[in-house]
Amino acid sequence: MYASIMNAVTELRGLIIRLQSGFYTVETGQGIYTCQLRGRLKHGPRLGDVAAVGDWVRFTVLSTSSNAIPPSGGGIGRGVIEQIEPRQRAIIRMAPTPHGVYQQIIIANPDQAVFAFACSHPAPRFGMLDRFLVIAEKQRTPALIVANKVDLATLEGARQMFDHYICLGYPVIYTSVRLNLGIDDLHERLKGKITVFIGPSGVGKSSLLNAIQPGLGLAAKEVSLATRKGRHTTVVRQLFALEGGGYVADTPGLKALALWDIDPEEVDGYFPELRELVAECQFNNCTHSHEPGCAVRAAVESGKVHPERYRSYINIRAGQETE
Ligand code: GDP
Ligand code: ZN
Repeated sequence: MYASIMNAVTELRGLIIRLQSGFYTVETGQGIYTCQLRGRLKHGPRLGDVAAVGDWVRFTVLSTSSNAIPPSGGGIGRGVIEQIEPRQRAIIRMAPTPHGVYQQIIIANPDQAVFAFACSHPAPRFGMLDRFLVIAEKQRTPALIVANKVDLATLEGARQMFDHYICLGYPVIYTSVRLNLGIDDLHERLKGKITVFIGPSGVGKSSLLNAIQPGLGLAAKEVSLATRKGRHTTVVRQLFALEGGGYVADTPGLKALALWDIDPEEVDGYFPELRELVAECQFNNCTHSHEPGCAVRAAVESGKVHPERYRSYINIRAGQETE
């Protein structure tokens, strides 16, 4: 009899879709499990999150009985996470603590990041967008720019603001929740993928999600508001399933995306329009700020490089916070 219980130990593989007070909700092909980390996993050599929303894990099933109600609700069973699979990528925030810099994983393995801004009310903050794009480049995360509230700026006005990003290789979707414009296009791009929405508050992220799927934006906002207080205020707490497949996540805080760990020389490589140009500068240690024979500054002067992008580049290189 005991032997048969021992033999019944099963290991499953799943995706962490929710994180709450040390409990991980893991989605598997065979249902949803509420798991905790095996003790030994908590004592890694590094200071940082061991597991995050978006991680793929292997876990031992403890129970699948329906009367084992998990503390965070929703699961059909309980389990213990034995192993976190290597991440393809992650959006990470460095949080200084008295014991050193703590690596907070905002989200693991996103397939893409949507950087959402409004064309007006609030006015777009291009310095912030450029900073986000650098992070996406560094993390090799495909970026999608959403320019919402087109109704407040006209489509032509909106294009003048954002079209040059298309030339850099970043797709831009023009949307208006009010006019129901671009919503289907955005919806289409979310299908089957894990997408993290990032952008200042008030640009219409919740409204866009609600327009895509009723209730989605509201649910996402409730989760982020509920996590304002507490230790993990900036990490993604939950992935929300899309009816047609895929997940979306909203980021609770903007500070979440402070730039980290980027050397000044590295920044060149994260600006697609500068990558090739810099080889043509007269000096190979050119900082593109004042040197003679600088191909970057020449390109700004001739209009080949957008002056706003150049400004962002200089600010990011100098390590300055920009608007
Ligand atoms: P979030 O903070 O990014 O989630 O933004 P919300 O979805 O809460 O939207 C902020 C405000 O902008 C709300 O009053 C929305 O009704 C409004 N809003 C959202 N989308 C649009 C749009 O396309 N056009 C206009 N004019 N207003 C919008
Ligand atoms: Zn130069």
